[in-house]
Amino acid sequence: MPTCDMCGRESEKVIDAIVEGTMLNVCEPCSKFGRVIAIKKPDIEKIEPQPRVKTTIEIIESIIDDYSEKVKNAREKLNMKQIDLARQIAEKESTIHSIEIGKLKPTLKLARKLEQFLRINIIEKETEAAKKTLDFQDKNLTIGDLINVKKSK
Ligand SMILES: [Zn+2]
Repeated sequence: MPTCDMCGRESEKVIDAIVEGTMLNVCEPCSKFGRVIAIKKPDIEKIEPQPRVKTTIEIIESIIDDYSEKVKNAREKLNMKQIDLARQIAEKESTIHSIEIGKLKPTLKLARKLEQFLRINIIEKETEAAKKTLDFQDKNLTIGDLINVKKSK
């Protein structure tokens, strides 16, 4: 059975401790005396902070402001009436009319049909990159995990 370096008593369990700057093996009751620092060997691998950068690219599509003019001009170039264009892209004549007078902003789906059929460009694309930094630093790892400071009561 190991012996306590402080009181000399045999103890089932001795603790590696620094007592007044000297490394000693002390028993449980002695470890609670004065300034005894019990040494607990760190078995935790030190985790280096690894900030990870996540980049997400978002493409925002929107209809250009002068869509009505472009649609009208392209249709007229093809010598088509509003009803003809409407039939070609399976839309109502009133829809084409509203678009051409700027009363109705076409949906992206409809705008794509108009773009394809009339060979125009009325959708503008904006790219927005959002950077998100995620901090994975382990905040639970403290000096207290490496050195267990026994406080006297
Ligand atoms: Zn002791």
